[in-house]
Amino acid sequence: MKTLYFVLVFSGLAFVFFHFQKPSESGTSKNIQKNRSPQNQLDKQVLEAKLRQNVTPKPIQIEDSIKITPADLLGNLNMQKHPDFVNVEVKYAAHKYFWLRKVVYKAFLEMREVAEKEGIRLKITSAGRSFADQKGIWEAKWKARRKKFGSDKATAENILKYSAMPGMSRHHWGTDIDLNNKNDSYWATEKGKKEYAWLIENAPKFGFCQTYTPKNQQRPEGYNEEKWHWSYMPLASQFLQAFKTQISYADIQGFSGANTAEELRTIEKYVLGINPECSH
Ligand SMILES: [Zn+2]
Repeated sequence: MKTLYFVLVFSGLAFVFFHFQKPSESGTSKNIQKNRSPQNQLDKQVLEAKLRQNVTPKPIQIEDSIKITPADLLGNLNMQKHPDFVNVEVKYAAHKYFWLRKVVYKAFLEMREVAEKEGIRLKITSAGRSFADQKGIWEAKWKARRKKFGSDKATAENILKYSAMPGMSRHHWGTDIDLNNKNDSYWATEKGKKEYAWLIENAPKFGFCQTYTPKNQQRPEGYNEEKWHWSYMPLASQFLQAFKTQISYADIQGFSGANTAEELRTIEKYVLGINPECSH
C-alpha cells in the first residue's frame, strides 16, 4: 500500500513537472529563433544605443501598408491639411514651412535625440514637397539654363544631376528628408564628415537610408550622390512599389521639358536609380 502511494505521488509530480515544462521549452526555442532574425538584431542595436543614452527604447516597427494614390505619388496633395502629415517644429528645421508624414517625423525625432546626445546636431533643410513646389525649383533652373544648353534634352539632363522632374521627386511622398546642408563642400569639412559618419552608422537603426550614394556598378545611373538626402524606408519602400505600378510617362506632364521625360528614361534611371540597400 505504501509503495502504491509513492508510485501515485511520483507519477503526479512527474505529470505536473512535464506539463508545465513543455510550453516553457517551446517558448525558449521561439525566443532563440526570434533573436536570430535581422529585425531582432536591429531592435537590439537600437536598444543598446538607447540604453547607452539612457532613453526609453522604442524598436523600429514596419509600418502597416497604407493606401497610396497617384495623387500621393505625384505630389498633388495638400500636406498642410492632410491628416497623415505634421508640421515640422521650426527648432528642428531651417524654417517653419516643412511637412512630413507623421511616422517619418517621429522616427526623425528619435534619431535626432540620440544624435544630439552624441554631439551631432541634425536639422531638416527640406522635407515634403508638392508638385507645385518641385515645379518652382525645376522651372527656375530651366529658365536659367535652357539658353546655355541649347536643347530641351540637354537642359533637362543637366538639371537632373541633382533635381527631380515635378511628379518624380521622393520628397512628394513625405517620406524623405534633407539634413543639415545641400552642398558637397559642407560634407567635406571636419564637421560634415563627422555628421555623415554618424548618419552612416546610426540612421539605418531608425529606418533611414541614404538613397543617392556615389554612382558605381551597383548604382550606375540616377542623380549624383547626396549625402544629405535620407529616406524613411518602412514607408518609402511602399511608395516606390506603388510608383512602379501606378505611374507611367503619361502622368509626367505640366512643366517645361516634360516632353523629354520618356526619352531620358527618367523613371528607370532616376526614380529607380537608387542605392540598392534602400530598395527593400
Ligand atoms: Zn532631397
